[in-house]
Amino acid sequence: MLRCNIRSISQKRGRIDILSRSSHRNQRRWERIEMKNPVIVVHYHELWLKGGNRRFFLGKLFTALRTSLQGVGVQRIEQPGDRFLVRLSDGADLSAAIERVERVLGIAYYAVARPVERDMQSLCQSAWDELAPLQFNTFAVRARRSDKTFPHTSMEIERVVGRYLQDRLREQNRSARVQLTDPDVTCYVEVTPGPLLVYARKIPGVGGLPANTAGRIACLLSGGYDSAVAAYHMMKRGAHLSFIHFYGTGSRPGESSLHVANGLARQLVRYQYHAKLYRVPFEAIQREIVRYAPEDFRILLYRRMMLRIAEVLARRDRALALVTGDSLGQVASQTLRNLVAVDAAAQVPVFRPLIGTDKVDILVTARKIGTYDTSSEPFHDCCPVFMPRTPALHASPEDLDAAEAKLDIRALVTQGLRETTLEQLRYTAGTVHVTEAKPIARAKNSTAIA
Ligand code: ATP
Ligand code: MG
Repeated sequence: MLRCNIRSISQKRGRIDILSRSSHRNQRRWERIEMKNPVIVVHYHELWLKGGNRRFFLGKLFTALRTSLQGVGVQRIEQPGDRFLVRLSDGADLSAAIERVERVLGIAYYAVARPVERDMQSLCQSAWDELAPLQFNTFAVRARRSDKTFPHTSMEIERVVGRYLQDRLREQNRSARVQLTDPDVTCYVEVTPGPLLVYARKIPGVGGLPANTAGRIACLLSGGYDSAVAAYHMMKRGAHLSFIHFYGTGSRPGESSLHVANGLARQLVRYQYHAKLYRVPFEAIQREIVRYAPEDFRILLYRRMMLRIAEVLARRDRALALVTGDSLGQVASQTLRNLVAVDAAAQVPVFRPLIGTDKVDILVTARKIGTYDTSSEPFHDCCPVFMPRTPALHASPEDLDAAEAKLDIRALVTQGLRETTLEQLRYTAGTVHVTEAKPIARAKNSTAIA
């Protein structure tokens, strides 16, 4: 099967050159294809379209495409049948458009198609233009009609175009033959109400569900790799996230984890288009814990305080759950017993999408989604400063309740909320805009704490 990544595109007087990499039968090579006024054909999985939610999901996917593609020269986005067609205007930046499409959640695959006049001769010629630069031994033509007024059936199209391609290949002494099952290359013809569309390179999209379709969740976003990847997994299932970051206040400007969390939120908001970032100063709370609680439980108590404050902020945003980047057994605080003991402090569900994921795989995803470099930046985490020498490995909820006995939990939560500031992030026209950080409204919701 042909796999192809569109790599680099340059524009010259209305024509767009696409460098594409194809690989089939262990061959990898780069080819140059010329195309005029390309159309990006976007296909989605059918699974989430079942039932009465179809319009809702497709509406969200449409909004996501429109928002993502702002500023790259899109003429219009159409929706004939079960796909979207992104028509680029003259001089549009195809490479930028593709980069943006690659981040749109809910896309099963996409292709850059040639628009063709509605006659068989033009269709055959374009199919040849599409296939000629590719190397293959077997091929097939697949036609689909969302516009039934076209005077040829899908089978006729496949037969006529297939025969034409065979003739042209023979003319060039190329030995490729038709093979309907698992061919090296498939030439797709889409008959939509506008021009016909031809393409032979399907590129996998990011998959998942369209952004902002599954409800709200608050994410505890540290400056590390894991929580940003956890956030991505939840966004990919349609959740809308607000981000909550706890930071130490003592470090010098530029050394605080705040700038890292801010950078991560900037990367992540590109998948869901708008987000809140709550910034909670945490050092004073840590000092209280260090002062009044047994040393070996410290980290677990920090986590419990984070969950409690995050829960209030989640409620403020009508978010129904929390998400963290914990992975089973990764560090002492993430043994099964410790996770359960920490969770006992939260009244909303705490999702941990990475619980069964190895660090190496988490890092692969971090690179893919663009958070790796930011997470690699050094910073003064609030936690290491107050690290215990021998952290408890197997705490119970009762152990932690007892360890917290001397702390005024409610007062600490209120204090954290009082000092919390909020940034709003918005992603438009390829740029992330961030509002100035402002204190959140007085912590009236802190009474929600048990
Ligand atoms: P990450 O897990 O993101 O790589 P980390 O390794 O520093 O960062 P852990 O000690 O593994 O964090 O903490 C487990 C989880 O607790 C994090 O994934 C995150 O969800 C939450 N968490 C930890 N520290 C913070 C923080 N400073 N602000 C917000 N959430 C945090
Ligand atoms: Mg971690």
